[in-house]
Amino acid sequence: MVSRTIPVDPFDLVIFGGTGDLARRKILPGLFRRFCAGQMPPQARIIGAARSELDKGGYREMIREAIAEFGGDLTGTEGRLDPFLDRLDYVAIDARGEGGWSELAEMMKGTERIEAYYFSVAPALFGDIAERLQKWGMADDRARIVVEKPFGRDLETARALNKTLATYFNEDQIYRIDHYLGKETVQNLMAVRFGNMLFEPLWNSQYVDHIQITVAETVGVGGRGEYYDKSGAMRDMVQNHLMQLLCLIAMEPPARFSPDAVRDEKLKVIRALEPVASHHIVRGQYQAEPMNEAENPGYRTAVENPRSRTESFISMRTEISNWRWAGTPFYLRTGKRMAARSSEITVVFKDTPHSIFEEDAGRHRNVLSIRLQPNEGITLGVTIKEPGPGGMRLIDVPLDMTFAEALDPEDIEQVDAYERLIMDVIRGNQTLFMRGDEVEAAWAWTDPIIEGWEARNDVPKPYDYGSNGPTDSEELMRREGRAWREVSE
Ligand code: NAD
Repeated sequence: MVSRTIPVDPFDLVIFGGTGDLARRKILPGLFRRFCAGQMPPQARIIGAARSELDKGGYREMIREAIAEFGGDLTGTEGRLDPFLDRLDYVAIDARGEGGWSELAEMMKGTERIEAYYFSVAPALFGDIAERLQKWGMADDRARIVVEKPFGRDLETARALNKTLATYFNEDQIYRIDHYLGKETVQNLMAVRFGNMLFEPLWNSQYVDHIQITVAETVGVGGRGEYYDKSGAMRDMVQNHLMQLLCLIAMEPPARFSPDAVRDEKLKVIRALEPVASHHIVRGQYQAEPMNEAENPGYRTAVENPRSRTESFISMRTEISNWRWAGTPFYLRTGKRMAARSSEITVVFKDTPHSIFEEDAGRHRNVLSIRLQPNEGITLGVTIKEPGPGGMRLIDVPLDMTFAEALDPEDIEQVDAYERLIMDVIRGNQTLFMRGDEVEAAWAWTDPIIEGWEARNDVPKPYDYGSNGPTDSEELMRREGRAWREVSE
């Protein structure tokens, strides 16, 4: 494979929480792959900063094991791991105290490199870290910070967090990560929409019947029960990932593919979202796996809260009040312990205004399906004549828009979302990161919905393990003469 990756400028990346789950599962294996692709300049340094009392050698061993466990297919990387681990350093640091900070400041002193600080720690520590970066002279103009979700738990906390970060950093130094935006297909969606003449004229309420966004997971809350029960599907998935996808599918064409042009358009979509009426929302909690309750308990058991009213599933219908989309429903759905792991955006076009064919020829709708996982890809369902004799019968065939067959698979370099986004931070490209006002606007839309449930003491409906959520979710569509796309891998 010929790598088309362009090396980035020399950088120092400090990962606060460098021993944590996210760093070991995603960030460091991703950096290793970029190193193997020749994208990391020889001078680049990666500095883990966390609470554990480790030395450089201990940290390198920890990351060696993490890459073996989470690095995926490592064929072709033989002999590359040790030189990569040589790039790693470590400092034991106390985000809330003073321990380790002078050592870190010393490491960062006097370099001319790009400096990036990844806050891969609990959000409660963001302010402490930002404050200490400034105190120890590291929050200069060259510094970029990367912050992980959750970005607040409502408008008030998100505003406070934005304000704290703004005390030490300018907006163009803050990279709020949403890894959904780093996916190949999400970018392909923009290429398909704005690189072709074909779709944009049809991309509106006149030709689109409705749009569905589904992010279905098969996992339960796992070890995150305590956190998840305070959050729920609305805060954990809808306010960030699903809304970001909604923005990209619904936004007006930006004037340029540049950070603020794109983010301005996304923000307009969020601000045009209609409030959601309570009868347009279905909330659910998963039940235990029958006959295997010990291993796969129901939601309330998993979060150890028998009276929990937090949703592990949500589906809803909303609309966007602007000229392009007025009257077109957008259906959003996400949940845990569903039938299959699948993230998909579906644009369902309207019926042709008149059919020239016999009734029994069948009638079909064009459906554009943008699949984020698994099997990333974009397909367009087009109606053709069923080949062969027997008169005119219509069938749907999928047109593969990822052109996997047109492009040599050997020539396609797979890049994971985290890898792409970290490299964007180093390049200083904020296009695929959320701006502070976007995050606040998203909370401003979700807050009244959540407050409504709380005021009504709304109790989520139970749904079967491995299902598509409560039956009411199917009903949400059925009563409008529509149906959810099947959730399949
Ligand atoms: P984790 O609990 O596995 O790791 C936390 C890290 O923070 C550890 O390295 C720990 O040493 C460090 N830390 C804790 N207190 C500290 C202190 N006082 N001073 C210095 N370091 C301290 O957490 P995680 O799962 O890696 O998550 C990190 C962040 O990323 C969280 O904000 C989480 O919400 C977010 N996130 C995680 C995932 C994931 O898949 N794990 C996905 C999306 C977002």
